[in-house]
Amino acid sequence: MSARPANATDPIAILRVAVPSPLRRSFDYTLPTDRATVPQVLEPGIRLRVPFGNRELTGILLEVSDTTNVSADKLKPAIEILDQTSLIPAHLLKLWCWAARYYQHPIGDALHTLMPTGLRGKAQAGIKKRKSDEVLPGTSEHDHPDRDGELTDEQQQARDAVCSAGNQFQCFLLDGVTGSGKTEIYLQVISETLSRGRQVLVLVPEISLTPQTVTRFRQRFPQKTIAIMHSGLTPRQRLNAWLAAARGDADIVIGTRSAIFTPLARPGLIVIDEEHDGSFKQQDGFRYSARDLGVIRAQSENIPIVLGSATPSLESLHNALTGRYQHLRLTRRPGNARLPVTRLIDTGQQTLEDGFSPALLQSIRQHVDKRNQALVFINRRGFAPVLQCRDCGWTAECRHCDARMTLHRTPPHLRCHHCERREPVHQHCPECQGKAMLAVGIGTERSEALLQRHFPDIRVIRVDRDATSRKNELDDLLSEINRGEPCILVGTQMLAKGHHFPAVTLVAVLDADSGLFSADFRGQEFMAQLLVQVSGRAGRADSADRAGEVLIQTRHSTHQSLQTLINQGYHALAEQLLSERRLADMPPFSAMAILRAEALNASVPAQFLGAARSLIEQLLAQMPNGHQVQVSGPLPAPMEKRANRYRQQLLLRSPQRADLQNLLTVLCQQLEQMKSQRNVRWSVDVDPQDMI
Ligand code: ADP
Ligand code: ZN
Ligand code: ZN
Repeated sequence: MSARPANATDPIAILRVAVPSPLRRSFDYTLPTDRATVPQVLEPGIRLRVPFGNRELTGILLEVSDTTNVSADKLKPAIEILDQTSLIPAHLLKLWCWAARYYQHPIGDALHTLMPTGLRGKAQAGIKKRKSDEVLPGTSEHDHPDRDGELTDEQQQARDAVCSAGNQFQCFLLDGVTGSGKTEIYLQVISETLSRGRQVLVLVPEISLTPQTVTRFRQRFPQKTIAIMHSGLTPRQRLNAWLAAARGDADIVIGTRSAIFTPLARPGLIVIDEEHDGSFKQQDGFRYSARDLGVIRAQSENIPIVLGSATPSLESLHNALTGRYQHLRLTRRPGNARLPVTRLIDTGQQTLEDGFSPALLQSIRQHVDKRNQALVFINRRGFAPVLQCRDCGWTAECRHCDARMTLHRTPPHLRCHHCERREPVHQHCPECQGKAMLAVGIGTERSEALLQRHFPDIRVIRVDRDATSRKNELDDLLSEINRGEPCILVGTQMLAKGHHFPAVTLVAVLDADSGLFSADFRGQEFMAQLLVQVSGRAGRADSADRAGEVLIQTRHSTHQSLQTLINQGYHALAEQLLSERRLADMPPFSAMAILRAEALNASVPAQFLGAARSLIEQLLAQMPNGHQVQVSGPLPAPMEKRANRYRQQLLLRSPQRADLQNLLTVLCQQLEQMKSQRNVRWSVDVDPQDMI
């Protein structure tokens, strides 16, 4: 793509336009017949109305050319130019286009989804400057970029390293144990960047889950304008935040995944907190990784980027170990806070009471008796994952998915967690009419009930998606927890992410086993990250008598990965997993993509992918390194049927990323032309995060 603006008076100007369509190509138009709206200079990135079939759509100008492959009788004029100048800085438009190409997504659709909704239609962008809730000025007279008290030596070194990058691209992996003061470093580095008159973009996994992070930024920089970008905004708020960033009115932009595409007038630094978090990869539609694009963006804007985590992804760790990223380590917590001591409880030989061992219940009692808080982590919502007939073994399954229905108690119903289908609870077995229906396994509701029975004098707070579905419910629960009264928290991943709960001294993992035997090649990595993150909620207070303890229940206490994790820590396990990945040619030692197909008819996806495979083999035969690309499948997806659709996949791996990319580009174009593609939904996932 050439970003060269062209002179609009040029009579043969061909406008190359990204139009929202499922096709991986751009479309050519001539200038509108009414030249009144046409600006002197046609900048790439301006929006224009174009005819498309029998519709009228808003497209984005990619370039102006003097040639086209479209015959003169087919070439149509654009209808109207909507912007006089581009809202998207040229280098950012390049990033958008790069991302669409890299993730093999139709360019028009990609660019359309990246535009704030308020700009996708005909509306003009001459929106008047207005402060919204989401763009807050500061209110007191000073910013407080430095906390009281000294940075630790490790923190100091990390901060100095990032600051010395100044206004040059460099990627840092800030690899610091939970509670080691990573956020403190972000704040100080951000302060330094702001003082040079630059803007900062901060990406976090989920803003609604960690309102504390935003509060901390607001308290530290009350004088600065902070724009918040997350999925809960109204289109209006989103547009205001976007424009504030683009015009340079916002000093700090804090956002979730899609904020990586926000224009900045004066970019100075990108921070990606919890860089290992899966939410940075979009799992449907335009399947981009905000973390990976962050690095590409920092490079193209020539600014530093900090990826922070206590449990870096194996990709980032590999990049740090091989010197592509500068590795900054924080190995301890500052002040009097210490990392918690972790013990395994082998539940193989024990009688459990709704999933709890006697030792665990006893520990919870000890911690709350000392007026501390205990946190119980369970990876499953609902009351029980299985409803089973005692007599014949029948289990309640979803009619639309290869999955069991989860039993919920409040209110009583069965629900499929994959398609959200609900059913009343069976009073007797549909198979044998037996009346003994058993709830098998443990979910958060069941643990909550057990804890309430066991500790009638203590407040039990459940935190999961069901308990926090109403507006402000989560905020209210978090405020209650932060008041610090003794209580028992029971919940899912929602409790594991980023929270700073100073009164929590005990973290219990009810069942670590599901992660140990995952079919996904990243299963062990995810398991380790989750265990370390949830453990990291314990013992964060700056107080010697609030030491943290972590208890992990497992039936496989001798499992090697678990042993390595507990005894030697995350990095030892990560290095072990990396050497396994190297031997198996798995990422980060190869580039991977998955071609997925799904259809209502069971045989269609495999037929489509079978044809795709033949095509791939033909294409590879013509490529110089074609023989190095490995193709496996078609195979059924781990959950073959979901929401009534049958799903198959084809896995592609290559030691050289470029070979895989070249293959995919040609492949997608040819698949778009295939007749049989109309009967399936198909998609390409480059650098897939999971195999589901
Ligand atoms: P992380 O982001 O690594 O989880 P935080 O930045 O949230 O860690 O720090 C954890 C706690 O330690 C916070 O309460 C923070 O204010 C405090 N803290 C950070 N750095 C220091 C320091 N140098 N001295 C004392 N306390 C610190
Ligand atoms: Zn039965
Ligand atoms: Zn279902």
